[in-house]
Amino acid sequence: MKLILFGPPGAGKGTQASLISEHYSIPHLSTGEIFREAIRNETPLGKKVKGMLDAGELVPDQTVVDLVADELKSDTYEEGYILDGFPRTVAQAEAFDDQLKKQNETLTAFISLQVPEEELVKRILSRGEGRSDDTEEGVRNRLAVYERETRPVKDHYAAQGLVFEVNGIGTVEEIFSRIRSVIEK
Ligand code: AMP
Repeated sequence: MKLILFGPPGAGKGTQASLISEHYSIPHLSTGEIFREAIRNETPLGKKVKGMLDAGELVPDQTVVDLVADELKSDTYEEGYILDGFPRTVAQAEAFDDQLKKQNETLTAFISLQVPEEELVKRILSRGEGRSDDTEEGVRNRLAVYERETRPVKDHYAAQGLVFEVNGIGTVEEIFSRIRSVIEK
């Protein structure tokens, strides 16, 4: 089972992706987490992307596409995976589709969490994760980048008939149960 969990910043992708990962025993691949870890460990990748993450800007497509392609080579992902935070631009989606095609693989579903914008800002600023991009300005910029660059990714997969919308308002358990019914359909 190969899944993409999609949604704006603050939609709860990380939380739900962890639950999906545990429930279906598939690894959770979060590009944002990989970048944050690289920053914590002060690796060359971390040094390269720190300013971009702090500003809420996207890391260049090629960097992310190469990173994901490399990571997915590991045997861990053979049985499937849940992607969280990737692809975030149409160019990334196209590169990812090419990669799947070359390996004769197909995406199972693209699950899109829907949360209204006013709720997103409130959630991010109150979640208190201490992320360096969780400032009012960082959040506003991430939302603007989402609208401009990331939302079109959903249309890209809708054209392939892979999009399943899930209402992202409610308790963590309620939302997870909606996701399960989409997956098990
Ligand atoms: P996230 O944890 O998914 O909210 O990602 C945090 C930050 O990491 C984003 O604001 C971007 O700076 C960077 N990032 C994560 N995934 C991607 C991606 N697929 N493409 C470009 N930048 C990304």
